[in-house]
Amino acid sequence: VVRHEEDRPILVVEDEAIVGEVVARYLRREGFRVIVAADGASALARAAIEEPRLVVLDLLLPDMDGLDVCRRLRAQGPAPILILTAKGDEADEVLGLGLGADDYVSKPLRPPLLVARVKALLRRSALLGAAPGGAPYAYGGLAVDPHTRRATRDGQPLPLTATEFDLLLVLARRPGTVFSREELLAQVWDDAYFAHPSTVTVHMRRLREKIEPEPAHPRYIKTVRGAGYKLADER
Ligand code: CA
Repeated sequence: VVRHEEDRPILVVEDEAIVGEVVARYLRREGFRVIVAADGASALARAAIEEPRLVVLDLLLPDMDGLDVCRRLRAQGPAPILILTAKGDEADEVLGLGLGADDYVSKPLRPPLLVARVKALLRRSALLGAAPGGAPYAYGGLAVDPHTRRATRDGQPLPLTATEFDLLLVLARRPGTVFSREELLAQVWDDAYFAHPSTVTVHMRRLREKIEPEPAHPRYIKTVRGAGYKLADER
């Protein structure tokens, strides 16, 4: 079964019924299909069946550690994950852990802000997911498939976040072309105006740790000193 992107729901994982309802109502008002799961186990079960296009995940759940749920959702599929959290500093920590979260919204909840973040993440993944042709981009064992939004090395799936995948995809579309950090910011980050180029450096390091057999001596993504990054063009 091939599903249209628009048919796939947004999965909201939240045990506080009122918060879950408010989030669902605001997203439905924007035309999204929304399903709500009240604990980690049912969230993982629903995600496996429904293949959500995005997940809004509360970190404090009754049955499982939210971080664990995040990691397992990431292993299941490529949907962007937006974290709901009570503390901003906690969120920064979570994004830094490399568990697969793409962005966060702090509680107390401001629904319009949450809707804006959801739309930004979806816009970004739609923009970068649409590619002509249909064949994955492939380089020396590395394959990047813009349609399934999955990357593999020697046939093994790479557990990339949506941001890491987007970075890799931009480079993979034009191997040998050098992209500056500013160019990568503009292409991958929806709110590039507010982001700092060092953000690219941080995500690039994590991307390399996942795709490079030896991250200290990158084989795929080369740094061009003073200019930026490129995907090595030798096959
Ligand atoms: Ca909660």
